[in-house]
Amino acid sequence: WFITLEGVEGSGKSTQAAVVMDWLRARGIPCRLVREPGGTPLGERLRQLLLNGEGRPVPVAEMLLFAAARAQLVETVILPALLAGETVVCDRYLDSSLAYQGTGLGLGWDAVWSVNRWSTRGLLPDLTLVFDCPPEVARARRRRPGDDIERRDDAFHQRVREAYLALARTEGHRVVLVDASRPEPAVAADVRRALERRLAR
Ligand code: C5P
Repeated sequence: WFITLEGVEGSGKSTQAAVVMDWLRARGIPCRLVREPGGTPLGERLRQLLLNGEGRPVPVAEMLLFAAARAQLVETVILPALLAGETVVCDRYLDSSLAYQGTGLGLGWDAVWSVNRWSTRGLLPDLTLVFDCPPEVARARRRRPGDDIERRDDAFHQRVREAYLALARTEGHRVVLVDASRPEPAVAADVRRALERRLAR
Protein backbone atom coordinates (compact mmCIF):
# COMPACT_ATOMS: atom_id res chain seq x y z
CA TRP A 1 0.00 0.00 0.00
CA PHE A 2 0.92 3.57 -0.57
CA ILE A 3 -0.48 5.98 2.02
CA THR A 4 -0.03 9.75 1.97
CA LEU A 5 -0.69 12.37 4.64
CA GLU A 6 -1.75 15.87 3.75
CA GLY A 7 -2.88 19.07 5.39
CA VAL A 8 -1.85 22.58 6.32
CA GLU A 9 1.13 23.03 8.63
CA GLY A 10 0.03 22.75 12.24
CA SER A 11 -2.71 20.25 11.39
CA GLY A 12 -0.91 17.53 13.34
CA LYS A 13 -0.11 15.56 10.19
CA SER A 14 3.37 14.53 11.30
CA THR A 15 2.14 13.41 14.73
CA GLN A 16 -0.46 11.24 13.02
CA ALA A 17 2.26 9.72 10.83
CA ALA A 18 3.44 7.93 13.98
CA VAL A 19 -0.11 6.67 14.61
CA VAL A 20 -0.24 5.22 11.08
CA MET A 21 3.18 3.58 11.48
CA ASP A 22 2.18 2.06 14.85
CA TRP A 23 -1.02 0.67 13.34
CA LEU A 24 0.90 -0.96 10.48
CA ARG A 25 3.66 -2.35 12.71
CA ALA A 26 1.13 -3.79 15.15
CA ARG A 27 -0.19 -5.84 12.23
CA GLY A 28 3.28 -6.99 11.21
CA ILE A 29 3.11 -5.04 7.96
CA PRO A 30 6.59 -4.05 6.72
CA CYS A 31 6.50 -0.29 6.32
CA ARG A 32 8.54 2.82 6.00
CA LEU A 33 7.90 6.51 6.53
CA VAL A 34 9.26 9.15 4.16
CA ARG A 35 8.68 12.85 3.88
CA GLU A 36 8.35 15.34 1.13
CA PRO A 37 10.13 17.35 -0.01
CA GLY A 38 13.09 15.29 1.10
CA GLY A 39 13.60 11.61 1.71
CA THR A 40 16.61 11.39 -0.61
CA PRO A 41 19.95 13.26 -0.50
CA LEU A 42 18.91 15.40 -3.49
CA GLY A 43 15.42 15.86 -2.07
CA GLU A 44 16.74 17.06 1.29
CA ARG A 45 18.88 19.68 -0.48
CA LEU A 46 15.90 20.80 -2.52
CA ARG A 47 13.87 20.92 0.71
CA GLN A 48 16.41 23.31 2.24
CA LEU A 49 16.36 25.53 -0.82
CA LEU A 50 12.57 25.52 -1.02
CA LEU A 51 11.81 26.07 2.65
CA ASN A 52 14.34 28.87 3.00
CA GLY A 53 12.98 30.60 -0.06
CA GLU A 54 16.53 30.70 -1.40
CA GLY A 55 16.84 32.38 -4.77
CA ARG A 56 13.18 33.43 -4.49
CA PRO A 57 11.77 30.91 -6.95
CA VAL A 58 8.87 32.17 -9.05
CA PRO A 59 5.71 29.98 -8.76
CA VAL A 60 6.52 27.80 -11.79
CA ALA A 61 10.09 27.26 -10.57
CA GLU A 62 8.80 26.36 -7.11
CA MET A 63 6.35 23.84 -8.58
CA LEU A 64 9.06 22.23 -10.72
CA LEU A 65 11.48 21.97 -7.79
CA PHE A 66 8.86 20.18 -5.66
CA ALA A 67 8.17 17.92 -8.66
CA ALA A 68 11.91 17.22 -9.04
CA ALA A 69 12.22 16.21 -5.38
CA ARG A 70 9.14 14.00 -5.82
CA ALA A 71 10.51 12.33 -8.97
CA GLN A 72 13.73 11.46 -7.14
CA LEU A 73 11.81 10.07 -4.16
CA VAL A 74 9.38 8.02 -6.27
CA GLU A 75 12.05 6.48 -8.45
CA THR A 76 14.74 5.77 -5.86
CA VAL A 77 12.71 5.06 -2.70
CA ILE A 78 8.95 4.68 -3.05
CA LEU A 79 8.69 2.43 -6.12
CA PRO A 80 11.50 0.08 -5.05
CA ALA A 81 9.96 -0.24 -1.57
CA LEU A 82 6.47 -0.93 -2.95
CA LEU A 83 7.90 -3.49 -5.36
CA ALA A 84 9.65 -5.17 -2.43
CA GLY A 85 6.27 -5.52 -0.72
CA GLU A 86 6.61 -2.71 1.81
CA THR A 87 3.88 -0.25 2.69
CA VAL A 88 5.09 3.31 2.20
CA VAL A 89 3.73 6.20 4.25
CA CYS A 90 4.59 9.58 2.76
CA ASP A 91 4.25 12.83 4.72
CA ARG A 92 2.98 15.01 1.82
CA TYR A 93 2.83 14.01 -1.84
CA LEU A 94 1.39 15.40 -5.04
CA ASP A 95 -1.80 16.69 -3.41
CA SER A 96 0.45 19.24 -1.62
CA SER A 97 1.49 20.57 -5.02
CA LEU A 98 -2.11 20.76 -6.20
CA ALA A 99 -3.08 22.63 -3.03
CA TYR A 100 -0.02 24.87 -2.52
CA GLN A 101 1.25 25.57 -6.02
CA GLY A 102 -1.91 24.78 -8.01
CA THR A 103 -4.39 26.68 -5.85
CA GLY A 104 -2.32 28.66 -3.32
CA LEU A 105 0.00 30.15 -5.92
CA GLY A 106 -2.65 30.02 -8.64
CA LEU A 107 -0.87 27.83 -11.21
CA GLY A 108 -4.01 25.75 -11.68
CA TRP A 109 -4.57 22.03 -11.25
CA ASP A 110 -4.19 21.08 -14.91
CA ALA A 111 -0.57 22.22 -15.11
CA VAL A 112 0.34 20.73 -11.74
CA TRP A 113 -1.38 17.42 -12.55
CA SER A 114 0.38 17.05 -15.88
CA VAL A 115 3.84 17.77 -14.51
CA ASN A 116 3.25 15.47 -11.55
CA ARG A 117 1.74 12.60 -13.50
CA TRP A 118 5.01 12.61 -15.31
CA SER A 119 7.30 13.06 -12.30
CA THR A 120 5.54 10.31 -10.32
CA ARG A 121 5.15 7.90 -13.27
CA GLY A 122 1.46 8.08 -12.51
CA LEU A 123 1.85 6.57 -9.04
CA LEU A 124 -1.18 7.57 -6.96
CA PRO A 125 -1.77 6.72 -3.30
CA ASP A 126 -4.16 3.96 -2.26
CA LEU A 127 -5.18 6.13 0.68
CA THR A 128 -4.68 9.82 1.39
CA LEU A 129 -5.53 11.22 4.81
CA VAL A 130 -6.21 14.95 4.68
CA PHE A 131 -5.95 16.60 8.10
CA ASP A 132 -8.26 19.55 7.99
CA CYS A 133 -8.41 22.45 10.41
CA PRO A 134 -9.04 26.19 10.20
CA PRO A 135 -5.88 28.25 9.56
CA GLU A 136 -6.23 30.02 12.95
CA VAL A 137 -6.12 26.70 14.82
CA ALA A 138 -3.14 25.57 12.77
CA ARG A 139 -1.32 28.84 13.35
CA ALA A 140 -1.80 28.65 17.11
CA ARG A 141 -0.41 25.10 17.14
CA ARG A 142 2.78 25.87 15.29
CA ARG A 143 5.38 26.22 18.01
CA ARG A 144 8.47 26.75 15.91
CA PRO A 145 8.85 30.10 14.17
CA GLY A 146 8.28 28.56 10.76
CA ASP A 147 10.25 28.36 7.56
CA ASP A 148 10.25 31.22 5.10
CA ILE A 149 7.87 29.36 2.84
CA GLU A 150 5.34 29.21 5.68
CA ARG A 151 5.27 32.96 6.10
CA ARG A 152 2.43 33.34 3.71
CA ASP A 153 -0.69 35.29 4.47
CA ASP A 154 -3.95 33.93 5.85
CA ALA A 155 -5.64 34.20 2.48
CA PHE A 156 -3.02 31.85 1.04
CA HIS A 157 -3.56 29.29 3.80
CA GLN A 158 -7.33 29.59 3.39
CA ARG A 159 -7.00 28.83 -0.34
CA VAL A 160 -4.81 25.83 0.45
CA ARG A 161 -7.39 24.53 2.91
CA GLU A 162 -10.19 24.92 0.40
CA ALA A 163 -8.14 23.09 -2.22
CA TYR A 164 -7.76 20.13 0.14
CA LEU A 165 -11.51 20.15 0.79
CA ALA A 166 -12.12 20.16 -2.96
CA LEU A 167 -9.69 17.25 -3.37
CA ALA A 168 -11.62 15.26 -0.78
CA ARG A 169 -14.71 15.71 -2.98
CA THR A 170 -13.15 14.99 -6.37
CA GLU A 171 -10.73 12.24 -5.28
CA GLY A 172 -13.10 10.62 -2.80
CA HIS A 173 -12.09 7.10 -3.84
CA ARG A 174 -8.71 7.58 -2.15
CA VAL A 175 -9.01 10.70 0.02
CA VAL A 176 -10.38 10.60 3.57
CA LEU A 177 -10.95 13.90 5.32
CA VAL A 178 -10.09 13.98 9.03
CA ASP A 179 -11.27 16.82 11.28
CA ALA A 180 -7.94 17.75 12.85
CA SER A 181 -9.26 20.65 14.93
CA ARG A 182 -10.21 18.17 17.69
CA PRO A 183 -7.90 16.85 20.45
CA GLU A 184 -5.18 14.46 19.29
CA PRO A 185 -6.72 11.19 20.65
CA ALA A 186 -9.94 11.81 18.70
CA VAL A 187 -7.96 12.48 15.53
CA ALA A 188 -5.87 9.33 16.07
CA ALA A 189 -9.05 7.28 16.53
CA ASP A 190 -10.34 8.53 13.16
CA VAL A 191 -7.01 7.68 11.56
CA ARG A 192 -7.17 4.10 12.83
CA ARG A 193 -10.78 3.80 11.71
CA ALA A 194 -9.87 4.98 8.20
CA LEU A 195 -7.00 2.48 8.03
CA GLU A 196 -9.26 -0.34 9.17
CA ARG A 197 -11.99 0.55 6.74
CA ARG A 198 -9.76 1.05 3.72
CA LEU A 199 -6.93 -1.37 4.25
CA ALA A 200 -7.84 -4.20 6.61
CA ARG A 201 -9.02 -7.34 4.90
O1 C5P B 1 4.55 20.23 7.02
P1 C5P B 1 5.86 20.08 6.31
O2 C5P B 1 7.06 20.21 7.16
O3 C5P B 1 5.87 18.90 5.41
O4 C5P B 1 5.85 21.32 5.35
C1 C5P B 1 6.89 21.76 4.61
C2 C5P B 1 6.54 23.13 4.04
O5 C5P B 1 6.57 23.10 2.64
C3 C5P B 1 5.16 23.57 4.42
O6 C5P B 1 5.31 24.82 5.02
C4 C5P B 1 4.39 23.77 3.16
O7 C5P B 1 3.82 25.04 3.20
C5 C5P B 1 5.45 23.76 2.11
N1 C5P B 1 5.05 23.06 0.91
C6 C5P B 1 4.65 23.76 -0.20
N2 C5P B 1 4.32 23.08 -1.34
C7 C5P B 1 4.39 21.74 -1.40
C8 C5P B 1 4.80 21.02 -0.27
C9 C5P B 1 5.12 21.70 0.87
O8 C5P B 1 4.59 24.98 -0.16
N3 C5P B 1 4.08 21.14 -2.54
